[in-house]
Amino acid sequence: MQITDGKEICANCGAKPSVVYCDGCGKALCRDCRGFDLWGYGCGHVDTKAFCPRCMKDPAVNPYSGAE
Ligand SMILES: [Zn+2]
Ligand SMILES: [Zn+2]
Repeated sequence: MQITDGKEICANCGAKPSVVYCDGCGKALCRDCRGFDLWGYGCGHVDTKAFCPRCMKDPAVNPYSGAE
């Protein structure tokens, strides 16, 4: 998960300042457009990932989403 400096406008809605970059495609996303997912690695380590709505549903990007 990569935090933006807030200068970029959200690439998804184009209306609000971004807060984070999508871990899939690298787009800047605002608070409303980002989605969070937790990736566990089996050893107790969990990574927080931030995704745009598109990558959230893309099994190639987010195999842990549970989406078909
Ligand atoms: Zn947005
Ligand atoms: Zn994305």
